[in-house]
Amino acid sequence: MQKIWGEKPYRSLDWQLKNQFGEKVYKLALNGGMSCPNRDGKVGRGGCIFCSEGGSGDFAADGHLSVTEQIAFQKESLRKKKPAKKYIAYFQAYTNTYAPVEYLRKIFTEAIADPEVVILSVATRPDCLPEEVLDLLAELNEQKPVWIELGLQTMHEETAQMIHRGYDLPALNRR
Ligand code: SF4
Repeated sequence: MQKIWGEKPYRSLDWQLKNQFGEKVYKLALNGGMSCPNRDGKVGRGGCIFCSEGGSGDFAADGHLSVTEQIAFQKESLRKKKPAKKYIAYFQAYTNTYAPVEYLRKIFTEAIADPEVVILSVATRPDCLPEEVLDLLAELNEQKPVWIELGLQTMHEETAQMIHRGYDLPALNRR
């Protein structure tokens, strides 16, 4: 098969980002200091069976630091290995919309204020996206691209129950 998108026979995300931003874009894994309704008892305890103690964000920066400090720390670590200059602020650990909207506005705005952050990426769950949070993300998307990562894991209800995902498929439609 002919390779027309860089070294791959398909349009990879890496290729797309290089094409859009002129160079490779690196993820900075951040911790917004939130929990998860599937861990704190709101919808479940113990979380998904694959979730780690760090809320599936074991490589994220220390949640006790401010977002600005986390970004600085992660950039420094990355630059020891890579010639990185553009970044995705990736809120990875736990459920990153499980907090009052004013708090979310504060931390997400702080992240995209960094001129080297070109994308905001938010990992969350479909049952944690109320209207006011979606409005906030839409507003921030006017400033810099916003990605929402929903950890679907499976479309099969039986498997979802087995892994203790803590929401059913219609939760996606209720959004
Ligand atoms: S939804 Fe995410 S943070 Fe919550 S228990 Fe599952 S993997 Fe962990």
